[in-house]
Amino acid sequence: MNHHLIPYGKQSISDADIAAVTEALRSGWLTTGPKVAEFEQAFAERVGAKHAVAVCNATAALHLALLVAGVGANDRVVTSPNTFLASANCAAMVGAIPDFADIDSVSYNLCPGSLESNWKADTKAVIPVHYGGQSADMPAIAEIARKRGAVVIEDACHAVGGSFMHDGQAYKIGGHPWADIATFSFHPVKTMTTGEGGMLVTDNDDYAADARRLRSHGMTREPDRFAGIGDPSFSERGPWYYEMQDLGFNYRMTDLQSALGLSQMARLEGFLQRRREIVDAYNHAFDSLHALSIPGLRNPDDKDLTSWHLYTPQFDFAKLGKSRTQFMHELAALGVGSQVLYIPVYLQPWYRQTYGYQAGKCPLAEQFYRNALSLPLYPELTDQDCTRVVESVHKLCSTLS
Ligand SMILES: *Cc1c(COP(=O)(O)O)cnc(C)c1O
Repeated sequence: MNHHLIPYGKQSISDADIAAVTEALRSGWLTTGPKVAEFEQAFAERVGAKHAVAVCNATAALHLALLVAGVGANDRVVTSPNTFLASANCAAMVGAIPDFADIDSVSYNLCPGSLESNWKADTKAVIPVHYGGQSADMPAIAEIARKRGAVVIEDACHAVGGSFMHDGQAYKIGGHPWADIATFSFHPVKTMTTGEGGMLVTDNDDYAADARRLRSHGMTREPDRFAGIGDPSFSERGPWYYEMQDLGFNYRMTDLQSALGLSQMARLEGFLQRRREIVDAYNHAFDSLHALSIPGLRNPDDKDLTSWHLYTPQFDFAKLGKSRTQFMHELAALGVGSQVLYIPVYLQPWYRQTYGYQAGKCPLAEQFYRNALSLPLYPELTDQDCTRVVESVHKLCSTLS
């Protein structure tokens, strides 16, 4: 049999998306024009935040988040080890020390208990990550962090459009009271895409204004913010006048990307619904298998609120009598792609060399990594594809002695 390989993740681009980008191309504005402002406004409304600042990727959003929160040299930033590199790298980018607390064994998210028991006095920011789309325990994390004077920045790159329950009420990720800033990614593998792209959202007026300035060279043209550029002979302030008040970056998003973002947002509910359907189908099909455990939920009520970026069961490869590499190859031979997400960040060579981190630091994250294998999950996955994934996993897991 000759199968096409079902990838583990994939973007969905419709004719309407293409038309939206084409229209932006013809409009005369290619960057920092009306589509950026429109996308920011629509996104802020969708996640229930006061401000949204569009940037070129979520790594830039995380970098700006720490800068505007005043986190820098001699500070410590604690995040989950079960994440993409950028959640921790942003700390090093501002001269702070990236550090890690362990995950819990149900949601695979930053564990409040581990955060509290490993707290160090120089910790100035905590960056929980909503692994796979499931919300971390934000109220518990915020209570621990804020009591000790640290800001909370949620890395919501997996959780565009997601919500969670607390005390019988639903709260939107990015729009609840337990984070100071949230960051989202629009990389093609994420829930919705702008090619590359990111968003920083916050209710804090100063954070938003600073992030806007820093995404464009630390420059301002707003007269009420002017400080003056020195010698009185340079006091003329005509329409050209601008000031650089901080060392900023070029982290801007283009109008082309924003046009795509707006068009994708119109499809977001459909994306989320399809992802939830597939997760339900997988859970139902895999629940009986002894060689794997389906992804856990910290709060069962979050099931239909979660954005489900990843579907990552824990496999018992010892029980299966084969390595994960072998299992992955066998799955691929049946036409099913898979991926391993994530290697605990502190095990990376640069982290070990720079900070002296060693294996054993976060045992649950290490155990999770050993057993994790993400299966295909994306909106265009057909029922037929879904059946192939289910049958292939069953086939490989039924060789169980
Ligand atoms: C994708 C991702 C990022 C980085 O996003 P980019 O837009 O690619 O810079 C950060 N954190 C997490 C958890 C991610 O999955």
